[in-house]
Amino acid sequence: MTTDQIRGHQTILEMLDRALSRGRLPHALLFAGPVGVGKNRVARYLAQCLFCEQTPSDQLSCCRECNSCKQMAAGTHPDLISIECPPDKAILPLSLIIGSEERRGREGVCYEMSLRPMTGNRRIAVIDDADKMNAESANALLKTLEEPSANYLMILIASELDAILPTIRSRCQLIRFAELSADDVSELLLEHQLAESPEQAQQVARLSGGSLDVASQLLDENLQELRTSITRLLCQHPFRPQAFSQAVIKAVDDIGGNTAAQRKTAHWILHFCADFYHQALQTAAGHESAVNNAQIDKFVNGFPGSTEDRIEKLGSLLDRLLETEEQIDRNATISLCIENLSEDLRSLQKSTS
Ligand SMILES: [Zn+2]
Repeated sequence: MTTDQIRGHQTILEMLDRALSRGRLPHALLFAGPVGVGKNRVARYLAQCLFCEQTPSDQLSCCRECNSCKQMAAGTHPDLISIECPPDKAILPLSLIIGSEERRGREGVCYEMSLRPMTGNRRIAVIDDADKMNAESANALLKTLEEPSANYLMILIASELDAILPTIRSRCQLIRFAELSADDVSELLLEHQLAESPEQAQQVARLSGGSLDVASQLLDENLQELRTSITRLLCQHPFRPQAFSQAVIKAVDDIGGNTAAQRKTAHWILHFCADFYHQALQTAAGHESAVNNAQIDKFVNGFPGSTEDRIEKLGSLLDRLLETEEQIDRNATISLCIENLSEDLRSLQKSTS
């Protein structure tokens, strides 16, 4: 891994580099920031730089050739201990911190970090989902954090900083990660061959809130198909409220009985719609950033009146949509929200104010 495989976060990389060159890297770091922006990637890069046998350890760089670098690339470095919350668990299991009941104190991160380095000069633990530790796990980890040794580094990773106990927080140097830019997300999607085209990558990146994870979720085939069919309904003049609400409600019902998943789907559909109106607004206003799209052009040109009239109308459509998005996020009844929205979109689109 090299820095050019890390998008964004330049300030953080520079800060880590400075800390290394001054010999002032703390023994515990807390990487906090949104999901899917590359916190784990930066943690592993830092570990690789520290393990690298060819480059000086006071520099944030690695050779990619030595044994340690190869082991890091393969995920087999014996001095890197890394844990995360299993996908089916809501809480980071205590056994990962201090070992299973039968082997308590003889396995887990705390035990591993008490051992001497196997190959290099230090041991490094990367604790992902640190915000999913319960008090028992956090207190167990605290003991290890309180007895820093010169040859260990702990990197805790969290997306919910508030969920980290103050006692843990106070023993780590906090490093805040920001969202990625839409351009970075778009480039990453193409680089990892997750998106089919630059246009799709940009469209998804715009909606991702700077998170590669969210962007990947949005690339789900069903969701993309849904986006196409909903957009088709949205761009019609005149707007057909029943067709729209039926399509949305059916899509949500198809998810099945899981209400959280239904709400998420409704949220994304509305997000797609908001993005469509937003793009239409940009096109109407003649912004350079506007997406070049025949469907949007046709929709915008379908409104009578002056540019100002169109902008005002598109603005009110967008506002109404964002309002519904909020209602859905606040747990309002989905079908009712969508039906009301459909009627309002019809009258807003039609009215000649
Ligand atoms: Zn190396």
